[in-house]
Amino acid sequence: MTEQTFSIIKPDATRRNLTGSVNAMLEGAGLRIVAQKRIHMSQAQAESFYGVHKERPFFGSLVAFMTSGPVVVQVLEGENAVLKNREVMGATNPEQADEGTIRKAFAESIEANSVHGSDSPENAAIEIAYFFSGTEIVG
Ligand code: ADP
Ligand code: MG
Repeated sequence: MTEQTFSIIKPDATRRNLTGSVNAMLEGAGLRIVAQKRIHMSQAQAESFYGVHKERPFFGSLVAFMTSGPVVVQVLEGENAVLKNREVMGATNPEQADEGTIRKAFAESIEANSVHGSDSPENAAIEIAYFFSGTEIVG
């Protein structure tokens, strides 16, 4: 089933000029980038986006990291896009990520792990709507 998911290229990757390399791996996995913009997240945006993690010990550090530089927010479309994106991203901790995944190739640490991807179709819809209006998504 064709679906959409939400993706972020995180500050550690934009800082190292890896936007194109990350997106080549996403496109190579069959995902289409149907919306995209480069932004610098505000503290409030990052806190709200990662609100589910606000009780976790790493929350403050994560928000500081996500606001430390520009990110690229994007919408990916394809067959089983949510799961496919999670597969090509690899495990949260790059030490546990499989060969051939984005995090194995590029992540610096469990925090600075280069990419975000929605974990369910329900959260994908919420996350897409947080950053994009319908007219900005062009399939
Ligand atoms: P994922 O991004 O794989 O869905 P989570 O939703 O669990 O992972 O965590 C969100 C983000 O928080 C991670 O991508 C990573 O940047 C950061 N993070 C997760 N666990 C830790 C940790 N133990 N220490 C520092 N940062 C973490
Ligand atoms: Mg997550």
